[in-house]
Formats: sequence, C-alpha cells, structure tokens
Amino acid sequence: MTAAHLVIGILNGDDIGHEIVPASVAVARAAAARHDLRIDWRAMPIGRTALDSHNSTMPAGTLEALSRMDGFILGPIGHRDYPKVPQAINPHPILRKHFNLFANVRPTRSFPGLGALHESVDLVIVRENNEGFQPDRNVVAGCGEFRPTEDVTISVRVITRAGSARVARAAFEIARTRSKRLTAVHKNTVFKLGCGMFVEECYKVAKEFPDVTLDEVIVDTFAMRLVRDPQSFDVVVTTNMFGDILTDEAAGLVGGLGMAPGLCIGEGNIAMAQATHGSAPDIAGKGIANPYAMIESTRMMFEWLGHNRGIEPAVGAAASMKRGIEHALADPTTRTRDIRGTGDTNDMTRAIVAAIESEK
Ligand code: ATP
Repeated sequence: MTAAHLVIGILNGDDIGHEIVPASVAVARAAAARHDLRIDWRAMPIGRTALDSHNSTMPAGTLEALSRMDGFILGPIGHRDYPKVPQAINPHPILRKHFNLFANVRPTRSFPGLGALHESVDLVIVRENNEGFQPDRNVVAGCGEFRPTEDVTISVRVITRAGSARVARAAFEIARTRSKRLTAVHKNTVFKLGCGMFVEECYKVAKEFPDVTLDEVIVDTFAMRLVRDPQSFDVVVTTNMFGDILTDEAAGLVGGLGMAPGLCIGEGNIAMAQATHGSAPDIAGKGIANPYAMIESTRMMFEWLGHNRGIEPAVGAAASMKRGIEHALADPTTRTRDIRGTGDTNDMTRAIVAAIESEK
C-alpha cells in the first residue's frame, strides 16, 4: 500500500515566524514519519524576506501555488513594520479571502503549572474571518473605514446572512464532535440589525444540528464570564472583531499569546495553520519564542485534513503530536520562559520530537 500523501506549504512569515515555523515543521515531520504519512513540503517566501528577495511581500504566483496544496503553515506577519511601499502589502486578508477561509478556529486549553488563571479550561472560539468590522477585508474595493472630514471617521461593519450561516455551520460541526453545546456571542441589544442577523442565522442553522444545544450570551457578559468561569463554555461562535478580542483574552487565561493556536478553514479545499499571536519583533532572533501556538496550529491542520480527506495517517500523526506536546509542556526544562519554563524554542521543539520518536 502506498503511503498517504499531502502537499503542505511552509510560509515562515516575519520575526519569530522564522523560529516557530521551522519548529512546527520539525515536529510534523517526526509525526508523519511515525505514521507513514508522506508530506511534500513546499517552502515559499512571504513577508519581509520576500520583499527583499522578490520585491513583494507576497510574490506573484503565491496564490496559484498554494491553490494546488492541501494546506499551509503561515507564520505571523509583522506588516506594521513593513516599509511604506506598494509592494509591501499585508498578505493575511488576501489569503483568507482568496481561499474563502471564513472560519478561524481558536482553541484555548489550560495545562497544569504554566501559569493559567484557571484549571481545566478547554474551549474553542470560532471567529468569523472575512467580514465584520475589519476594514481590510469587508469590502472588495476601497476601504471599510473612511474620513469624510478631518474630524469625522466612519467605520463600516459588514454582516451577511451567508457569512453568518457558514461560520455558524462550521462551529456546529465542531460542537458536534465535542460536548454538543454551542454559544453564540453577540450584542444584538445594540447592533439590532447586524448582530440580530448573525443570531438569526445561528438559530436557522441550529435546525440542521438537532443534537447540538445552542445558547447565546451578550459579548460584554461573555467577556466577564470568560475570566471568572471559562469552564462553563465549550464551543463559541462570534463575529470577527469580537472574536479577535475574545481569543486574546482567552489566551491570557492560559499563559499568554504563546498558548493561542488557530486554524483557518473554509469550504473544504485548503486549511491554513495560523497562530493567533503576531510576529513578536521584541523577542525575534533570541530563540526564546514559545512554539506551542504554531505547533498546535499545525497539528490542528493535520487532524482536520485527516478527517476531511479521510487520511487516517494524518489523524494518527496529529495524535502523536498532541502526546508529544503534552509531554514537553509537563516539564519546566522543556518549555519556554513565558509559560514558567527554563527552556528555549529549541529545547521545547526537540523534546516534542523526541517524545514522538520514542512512542511505542
Ligand atoms: P498582532 O496585532 O500582529 O497580532 P500584537 O501587537 O498582538 O500583534 P504580538 O506580536 O502578538 O503583538 O505579541 C505581543 C507580545 O506577546 C510580544 O511582544 C511577545 O512579548 C509576546 N508573544 C507573542 N507571541 C509569543 C510567543 N509565541 N512566545 C512568546 N511570547 C510571545
């Protein structure tokens, strides 16, 4: 029998991306080897290094090349520090839009001894990814934010029935594999039309999932309850901006941004592993970045591709990665300093790889 085969892109991104993406690939390679999963890795330039080498932060042909792949790892993008030239675009919104990656799946899990504010936190926030308040992605031309006079700024928020329904459906699918509870987070008390439409669509989609219970919480109440009682939530679905803020808050509960993974998914063609955090230029090049978020994002991609494509070795590889990660996180010498460890990026990566390689 020939080994299962996946084509996966490697896009380091900027700053700590050059450290945590190679760490993720090393871990994935070890897991793939154990499960006879053949991966055709395709490294591609993106971000600041691509600007230097190809005169564009997203070189021509990138989208076409990615469209022939099963998934890709996108390291954090530090676009705020790009030179102000037309070739230095932010690739994020383009990638999310082009591949219709409308659901950003962001889990939050606490591990003992890492400085989490609560024990036994295990929830998933599914953030709508392509519309909402984010002006860089909610219009096809122009910008969703404008300044008619020097003293007035208007920001437009886009909510559509189709966009709300499809992210709700993605969240229901996830809820179905967990505790069969889904919480819609919104503010329809104020955004009667926008959030109102989002919630209406959640309830419509709920009819397709009679085995899942849907409830709803107003966003400000949710923000408070997330701090006090995060164990009361399992799967959460929300609009783009609320999801952006709440997933950082959730990361803060369990040790900080290094503990915040994410997977962007859409209509089933391609998955993008992308950590929640940014490129952390303050710690780049020091070898101390926490690789967990990026490695776990990569693991989620293999698990998703495995289930989605029926590739059992990818599911097995993801399970090995999970055990390896848990092993490294349990030992202070093999986890990074931001999560109460004494190790560095390499120590943690090596420990995960070693745990995978020594699995029985
Ligand atoms: P963005 O807006 O692009 O998401 P940000 O302004 O939220 O970025 P980040 O780059 O995410 O900023 O990082 C904020 C701080 O969190 C960093 O300066 C760094 O100290 C810390 N941090 C982020 N990611 C990690 C990581 N993987 N490991 C350790 N520390 C991290």
